[in-house]
Amino acid sequence: MLDMVQLGELMRELGQPSYRAAQLYQWLHRHKASGFDEMKNIPASLREKLADRYYITVMDPEEILISQIDGTRKYVFSLQDKNVIEAVLMKYRHGNSVCISSQVGCRMGCRFCASTLEGCVRGLTGAEMLAEVYRIERDCGERISNIVIMGSGEPLDNYDEVVRFIRMISDENGLNISARNITLSTCGIVPGIRRLIGEKLPVTLALSLHASSQSKREEIMPIARKYRLEEVLDACRDYYRASGRRISFEYSVVKGVNDSPSEARRLAQLLNSFSSRTRGGREGAFHVNLIPVNPIEERSYESPDRASIAEFVRILKINGINVTVRREMGRDISSACGQLRRRYIKDADTGIN
Ligand code: SAH
Repeated sequence: MLDMVQLGELMRELGQPSYRAAQLYQWLHRHKASGFDEMKNIPASLREKLADRYYITVMDPEEILISQIDGTRKYVFSLQDKNVIEAVLMKYRHGNSVCISSQVGCRMGCRFCASTLEGCVRGLTGAEMLAEVYRIERDCGERISNIVIMGSGEPLDNYDEVVRFIRMISDENGLNISARNITLSTCGIVPGIRRLIGEKLPVTLALSLHASSQSKREEIMPIARKYRLEEVLDACRDYYRASGRRISFEYSVVKGVNDSPSEARRLAQLLNSFSSRTRGGREGAFHVNLIPVNPIEERSYESPDRASIAEFVRILKINGINVTVRREMGRDISSACGQLRRRYIKDADTGIN
């Protein structure tokens, strides 16, 4: 993936006028061209030369599932090396949001997550992440206004490529999606969060918390043994102070595991102490997003019933916590993170040819 400066160098090397770089950039990142032959204002001889030396990363949909209820679209893309990933388009009143994968699989091992069952094959390149968004924008014919890096993979385990992606997608000469409209979700890789502070990109940080104590968190997320809860919250606090962006704490609620009223009270306490030590006070420092767990067949985890979730929410609210329950999108095409991809892996394993 070449940025504008690198494209400029390439054009100089090929003896082209400098405005060609801007033209190429426009074709690639604004018109989302999938081939050099589409680039009508570029001389044919240059197009041929480029096609000999370079390729444009594109996504081929293997399958697109469209919800009849709310227009959510789930994409299964196959990559050039035949690996398969997923991405989702969600339509909201405030705009269209795309949830992208950052890795093929994941090596973090969170207990209830389907993406991690086969480990991590590789990180996606920045170009592949861009291509996920470009392909979806082309497919739905509407502008994408928000990006959530919450699909398969741990973005901070693929740090450099994820940051390249964020810089390109927020470039004003490309799709120009403001970093403020981009959310990066992490299981809590502390050095990654700290490095991200240094990038000065105002992306929203979502932290997968899932528990209110160190021991409970370790039970659900192996990575918690490496980066302790206290350290993770310290890094989030520093992120908030540096960026002014409200932290989003994700809490996947699992029946009988982390959904009890005492867990809710402990969570409220933990987060109230998080904000009391955060300059700027309680208001606006964070909010909690509860995600009723989406059961996967390989594990016995179940979602709590509605009454237990309502009680959990009530306890958080009376303790002053700003909380929302994630609305389930595309219920009729439902499948948890990483499950569509797994179906493809399994089909390939049992294929007859
Ligand atoms: N690796 C990153 C981003 C990918 S997962 C992270 O851990 O944040 C995005 C969110 O979905 C995380 O909070 C993750 O814990 C949650 N999640 C994954 N599988 C889930 C499932 N089956 N049900 C509910 N939440 C799930």
